[in-house]
Amino acid sequence: MEMKIGFIGLGIMGSRMAANLQKHGYPLVVFNRTRSKAESLSANGAEWAASPAAVAGQVEVLFTMLAHPEAVREAALGKEGFLAHLPPDALWVDCSTVNPSFSKQMAAEADTRGVHFLGAPVSGSKTQAADGTLIFWVGGAALDLVTCWELLNFMGTRIIHAGGPGMGAALKLVINQLLGTTMAAFAEGIVLGQALGLTREVLFESLLGTPAAAPFLTAKREKIEKGNYAADFPLRWLQKDLHLAAVSAYETGVAMPLTNVAKEIYRFAIREGDGDKDFSAIYHYLARDYDVKPNGNGHLDQSDALRDRLQRTECL
Ligand code: NAP
Repeated sequence: MEMKIGFIGLGIMGSRMAANLQKHGYPLVVFNRTRSKAESLSANGAEWAASPAAVAGQVEVLFTMLAHPEAVREAALGKEGFLAHLPPDALWVDCSTVNPSFSKQMAAEADTRGVHFLGAPVSGSKTQAADGTLIFWVGGAALDLVTCWELLNFMGTRIIHAGGPGMGAALKLVINQLLGTTMAAFAEGIVLGQALGLTREVLFESLLGTPAAAPFLTAKREKIEKGNYAADFPLRWLQKDLHLAAVSAYETGVAMPLTNVAKEIYRFAIREGDGDKDFSAIYHYLARDYDVKPNGNGHLDQSDALRDRLQRTECL
């Protein structure tokens, strides 16, 4: 009989990753907090399970792709958690972005129950999840990676074995620390350039594709130009990753002043309602006091709100 695969967490990433396993003929047993997100997988034959525990009873390999460590802990060890129900020697592959110390804890929890564990967070976003072109950053035993190698290959094109438990998470956090700080720095630079009289078009044409701008920023241009921030990577999860980087820095005694400032800028943006938008909406947040459409001279016009604020400051 064909091996059944469990999949828990069917958001932007998980739903598309699971669909790729399904396309390659694997029968799936799925669970998601919001059931409606399982509809298209169910329409193609996936079996719905009523809880994480109910998924576990039926599978030998289980993937989780959840928002944050708390959601992973609840799914694994909560009242209806799956860990106590997986058969001995089953393999749990956690693809969620979590912090290394948490991933190590989950590896230890799995180990006490005779379950194998890999942390395998991913790089790539909605498009790469759909196309099966993700990169997996894997921490755990090489033999466990061999067990799921074929499955990871159906969802991604590069698999990097970073080391033992927690090492995939470590690599992933360094990457997202770079994405988050770089995006915020770029947005700030664009706003300054516009305020100085450059048009956004001149700024994009001059900066993107040069060594001064990270390659991923090119893919954010259209979102910024159109003001359409439909999420590929939700801003709130980027902020979560900067938080997890800060937690990891605390645990290891490293100082991350820049990352912590960036983290708080994203927090302000969440407060202003940008959390569910793509993380490139940090531009929208930083430019919000201006009319972001350049006027004839390429200047940003101050909005009434900003003029108001400046006037009030002058009064003080
Ligand atoms: P998403 O669309 O928001 O999906 C999040 C998933 O976690 C959903 O299944 C959601 O369930 C579940 N969840 C959230 N809070 C929960 C809670 N308290 N209890 C139980 N389940 C909960 O986000 P995503 O973009 O797919 O991200 C999933 C993971 O991949 C995150 O760790 C993210 O950092 C990482 N990641 C994302 C990207 C990207 O570009 N999007 C790229 C690389 C890595 P509901 O459906 O019920 O909300």
